[in-house]
Amino acid sequence: MTVQTILLVEDEKDIRELLALTCKREGFAVLETENGAKALTLAREKKPDAIVLDLMLPGLDGLSVCKALQRDPDTAAIPVIMLTARGEEIDRIVGFEVGASDYVVKPFSTREVMLRIKSVLKRTSLVPEQTALASGAIRLDALRHVVFVGDEEVLLTVTEFRLLEDLLRHAGQVRSREQVLDAVWGYSFEGYARTVDTHIRRLRAKLGPGADVIETVRGIGYRIKG
Ligand code: CA
Repeated sequence: MTVQTILLVEDEKDIRELLALTCKREGFAVLETENGAKALTLAREKKPDAIVLDLMLPGLDGLSVCKALQRDPDTAAIPVIMLTARGEEIDRIVGFEVGASDYVVKPFSTREVMLRIKSVLKRTSLVPEQTALASGAIRLDALRHVVFVGDEEVLLTVTEFRLLEDLLRHAGQVRSREQVLDAVWGYSFEGYARTVDTHIRRLRAKLGPGADVIETVRGIGYRIKG
């Protein structure tokens, strides 16, 4: 198997070194820079498999770097994971406007970042057909990041979208709350199980009549009809 390369763009040296160490330990090759303009050059020249990009950079900031990557046909397909401390920016970051593939909120665990990296790499290596998921009246397009119930588009938050995508990818299987937490939030601690229930409740409300494909499996978790 060829070694995949991750470009790390972060001006805080400690964080960058920690991420570099984690990536190398997981068998990735690593490119590093503290500078947004250099990141663009490296992305064009070296074509990394994924980019971890800090939002707050001196000079050219993360948002500008991400937009520039999107505009350039040579780099537009490279998945970008944004590091952000600003919770309120998240829907913009992964939305159409900025176009990042995913994000991690600071402070983060390296495990969480690694899960996100692996997840975007898996997504980009999928053939397009496999990014279209469906059950009952629900259709989810993971590439275009849209969900429909029948002909109606349903607007979901990033977390709700990931949750639905996770359940659809495991259609027919019971997903425990711990598995869902691990896949969607990148961690699973006892006591956080209620978080899943809360988001499932919101997701069901938004899906309306389409929600009947999501079954509650008492004492365990959830399952989408296969
Ligand atoms: Ca920074």
